[in-house]
Amino acid sequence: MDLTYRTLFSKRKTLSISVERDCSVVVHAPDGTDPERIRRAVESKRLWLYEKTRHPQKTQTRTHPPGTELVSGESLLYLGRHYLIEIVEREGFAIEFRNRFIIPRARAAGRTEVFREWLQARARGLILPRVRKQAQALGVAYEEAKITDGHYRWGSCTPGGNLNFNWRLIKAPLFVIDYVIAHELAHLIEPNHTPRFWSIVRIAVVQMDKAKGWLKENGQLLEQDL
Ligand SMILES: [Zn+2]
Repeated sequence: MDLTYRTLFSKRKTLSISVERDCSVVVHAPDGTDPERIRRAVESKRLWLYEKTRHPQKTQTRTHPPGTELVSGESLLYLGRHYLIEIVEREGFAIEFRNRFIIPRARAAGRTEVFREWLQARARGLILPRVRKQAQALGVAYEEAKITDGHYRWGSCTPGGNLNFNWRLIKAPLFVIDYVIAHELAHLIEPNHTPRFWSIVRIAVVQMDKAKGWLKENGQLLEQDL
């Protein structure tokens, strides 16, 4: 399928994609964004855009079987993959993840918040143990590792040995998460981005170059709420 879209440039900081009432696709991008990067961002949302432009009125007309309604084809990025979101009539839970995200209808309106909490909990459960493991493998000691809610930085470290990781990283593939962890840990050995620094990171994460490329292309997608 050929996806046509308009790009609107502005002073905004992040890239977002929306589907207008007339089913046209509009990309809102920061001034000066590389067109190739925009094309890739649209490409990565292909499934979502396809659903949304093809079935624009589906949620209103209620032609779907009960219990299997999609939030207008919305999907959520988790560990590098887009998973569809499904609304069900069952109650008594916040989110279920079974190769798609299932949420009760009562939570659908506030889903951005529900998903954020779910992803933050997953980030703590997955990233922090991997930091411990990688630190052991690299033979470095750190003071404390935390999951934070910053923007525009995936990881950071202080000279005192405190490490911070952005919870939005949980949307990236595992090899990218491992790269960001290795990057921050390697700074405890070598503060600057010297050849020695990169060779430490590369030993820890063989897919270092692929991970850097992934972040460069998709980093802005991690910033989107859904
Ligand atoms: Zn660095």
